[in-house]
Amino acid sequence: MSMNSVPLGSIVQEIAEEMKLAGDRGAVADYIPQLASVSPWHFGMAIVDMDGECHVAGDAQVPFSIQSITKVFALTMALGAVGDALWHRVGREPSGSAFNSIVQLEWERGIPRNPFINAGAIVVSDILLSHYEPAEVIGEFLQFMRMLTGDDSVAIDQIVARSERDTGFRNVALANYMRAFGNIHHPVDKTLGVYFHQCSLSMDCRQLARAGRFLMTGGRNPDTGLSVVTPQRARRILALMMTCGHYDGSGEFAHRVGLPGKSGVGGGILAIAPRIASIAVWSPGLNDRGNSQLGTLALERLVQRTGWSVFGPG
Ligand code: GLU
Repeated sequence: MSMNSVPLGSIVQEIAEEMKLAGDRGAVADYIPQLASVSPWHFGMAIVDMDGECHVAGDAQVPFSIQSITKVFALTMALGAVGDALWHRVGREPSGSAFNSIVQLEWERGIPRNPFINAGAIVVSDILLSHYEPAEVIGEFLQFMRMLTGDDSVAIDQIVARSERDTGFRNVALANYMRAFGNIHHPVDKTLGVYFHQCSLSMDCRQLARAGRFLMTGGRNPDTGLSVVTPQRARRILALMMTCGHYDGSGEFAHRVGLPGKSGVGGGILAIAPRIASIAVWSPGLNDRGNSQLGTLALERLVQRTGWSVFGPG
């Protein structure tokens, strides 16, 4: 469907109105106070199209903790640093288990299934740390996000980062376990220092949709015209988002929405309609797989009205 035939502004508004009436809003994450105290009544959506136009509705300009959505961007940086050698240390298959699961690591000798579960993202943090100190990696990551967004106000929430560290016992276990297999190369507290700060990035939907634009365009930053990644790498990152972007709910998300997407426990989802749009949606209540309840519903309605599913309209 051509962009011009889709009245995006009104579709986004309509969806936001419908979400106000939704009964089952899911449950907000409660493992840290900063997430537990967010109201489940928030809903925001932003769509940036190939012409650079941004359509927003609801709380699209309220910042939230993007959490695991950062795993897409950290992977992009790590691939830039070490290329396909990364795949010796992290797999590319859906896990079928929860985001913070440890069980598969024993069978698979410390090689996480994919970079979008916690274990895989911790290895990605460890890769980014090669030859650098945690503060430098976090600084580089923030610069990368600001460049992609075209907005220097994007920041890490230090209070969230501290809470992540104070409660991250499972992540500490995952990192130590992988270190025992030789798949974490730095002291665990340094690797996790990078990971916890990365998870604590705050963005609003508008900024997040802008940050995803390079995946919509086949790897190019529309602000500068410069390549962020090659078209092949953009395509492969999208493939991983489709197969692994929603933890053990990835099949369900593909079934309902049919777009490459990545969710976070803060209730955000970044979804990409290749060559059409970069979409960010946020509603903090989660379903039983840890993915935004209304965010998923909103994206399902969006693809029904636009025909944007990569599997075709319907
Ligand atoms: N900070 C969270 C954790 O590592 C991220 C989880 C997520 O967004 O899925 O537990």
